[in-house]
Amino acid sequence: MSFSPFDPASNKPKPEPLPLPNSWRSEAVRIVLSCIVGGIFGHWLGYGFLGIGVVLALYLVVYVRRLSKLQAWVYQPKRYELPEPSGIWGDIFYRLQDNQRRNRKKKKRLTAMLAEFRSSTEALPDGAVVLSERGEIMWFNLAAQTLLGLRSPQDISLRIVNLIRYPEFAEYVASDTYDGEIEAPSPLTRDRTLSLQIIPYGNNQRLLIVRDVSEIKRLETARRDFVSNASHELRTPLTVLRGYLDMLEPEAQGKNPLSEWRAPLMEMKNQTVRMESLVNDMLKLARLEAHAHGQTLQDLLDVPSLLRRVIDEVKAMSQGNHTFEARIQPDLCLLGGETEVLSIFTNLVSNAVRYTAPGGVIRVSWERDGEQARFAVADTGIGIAAKDLPRLTERFYRADVGRSRASGGTGLGLSIVKHALESHQAQLQIDSELGVGSTFSCYFPGERVRVLTEAAPVMQK
Ligand code: ADP
Repeated sequence: MSFSPFDPASNKPKPEPLPLPNSWRSEAVRIVLSCIVGGIFGHWLGYGFLGIGVVLALYLVVYVRRLSKLQAWVYQPKRYELPEPSGIWGDIFYRLQDNQRRNRKKKKRLTAMLAEFRSSTEALPDGAVVLSERGEIMWFNLAAQTLLGLRSPQDISLRIVNLIRYPEFAEYVASDTYDGEIEAPSPLTRDRTLSLQIIPYGNNQRLLIVRDVSEIKRLETARRDFVSNASHELRTPLTVLRGYLDMLEPEAQGKNPLSEWRAPLMEMKNQTVRMESLVNDMLKLARLEAHAHGQTLQDLLDVPSLLRRVIDEVKAMSQGNHTFEARIQPDLCLLGGETEVLSIFTNLVSNAVRYTAPGGVIRVSWERDGEQARFAVADTGIGIAAKDLPRLTERFYRADVGRSRASGGTGLGLSIVKHALESHQAQLQIDSELGVGSTFSCYFPGERVRVLTEAAPVMQK
């Protein structure tokens, strides 16, 4: 079995250290032998110690010369060559030159790699900006110059927030968590939109990725406008159709030529009602999407009274088939948009009724949860399979298609809820178990929560 030590930083095996050569011993032997020969020669001339002294002095001269050569080489390695004497000096000089050769090779390789990295990042269509711990620009590629108008070297070391002057971006940079990405107008022209994403890496450094998303935004707007316009256009003919069908219905009751059309007329009416709710939901969704970024929803909403209204409406829809329990903190209010918040409440509470068999219980709560406010609807209904949970808020996604259609569902309710929550920076959490029931919880952020007076929650039946 063999074992090779690994360097955790590079993940490469560490080179084995070279064994120390025994040239020290041969150098010492050589000095001693030279001293003996010098001593014998000196003794022969009548000055034994002088002979040894002369030998040592010669060694000193040689050592000093080699040291001076070494110094010259260290200062100017390209200009001076090191000699290749035998013994310990030869060994030292050889190792030094060998190390230098290796370092040169390594440097060449790194320089080539760096050049390759630079040319590949220059070819990237996305802008890349390397930021220091303090948000200063350390390096950027060509696309960053085009997208952000950065200049090299003038903008190096400047703080990025001083160049991209957009409050949301400043908040994003200061957040330190860098969740997702943000969109900001281009600092060069207002009609282009950039997506900015910070990726932390290495030693507190950060990489800012910049993408031009103007075209995607344009297509998104075109799609949204198309849905919204198409829904608008469909609304008028549908209203006319439904009006005539309503007028024809009493005619079909009595003894007249239309009476045999009673069933088809009813079916036509049901389908127009269904189409109307679809068109209305599509319009609601298009409006929510259009307002998702622009509009700030900041009205002070009396949520307890809104909730009572919603519960009364849904109770009528349930026709006494379900038991309702409400736990509402009476003075807990919200800064938001009334239409959007009503949409959230109505969709979730009416879904609870539609997906809970008669005799089931529906619990609605509106309470403080730490800094946040939590609106929750729990039912004892059919529940949702775990595999459907992640897709529930997709447009037209239905876990139970039959029941959804039979109860007049459009498949857009939870999509509307999701968008309305997003426009309030709120989160949706769905907990459910098949055959047991579901809980839909909405968490509204602390900045939107207002408690007029602290009062205990009241239980209502
Ligand atoms: P729909 O109009 O079909 O109800 P939604 O978007 O409101 O559309 O809901 C999407 C799907 O989620 C529904 O078709 C249904 O299968 C499931 N769902 C929603 N709420 C509940 C609930 N309270 N209990 C069980 N299933 C639900």
